[in-house]
Amino acid sequence: MMGHNDLRDLYQEVIFDHNRQPRNFHVLDNANRSADGHNPLCGDQLTVYAHVQDDVVQDVSFVGHGCAISKASASLMTEAVKGKHVKEIEELYDGIHQMLTESHPEDIDFGKLEVLSGVREFPARVKCASLAWHTLQNAITQAGHTAQTE
Ligand code: ZN
Repeated sequence: MMGHNDLRDLYQEVIFDHNRQPRNFHVLDNANRSADGHNPLCGDQLTVYAHVQDDVVQDVSFVGHGCAISKASASLMTEAVKGKHVKEIEELYDGIHQMLTESHPEDIDFGKLEVLSGVREFPARVKCASLAWHTLQNAITQAGHTAQTE
């Protein structure tokens, strides 16, 4: 386990890096799924694109604008879910949601996504961090409407 201050430093470093240079930040030309997400509390707005084949997310990207946390979280998400089965992503989404709002699930190794647990110290930002995940779930299940964090 990392110490509290280590996690805090890493959190700031990773959020800063992914906000400044978001990964997979573009429209996905061969996307067969997409969804819009909106967090009215903060003004975060993004669109997530995915190319899903055989229930595996072959490729994923996002565009949009918003605060550093929403953008960094979306960037980290695209890196984390690429190549994963939709079932795995669903489990990851549930785990992330638990990590952000309650406590760290003992049985899941989040890898790099671990830094998102730093958001728990800022409850007002939880919706910023979860927006991309929520939107991806909508894209995958093709809910076909704008994801609201409410
Ligand atoms: Zn935000």
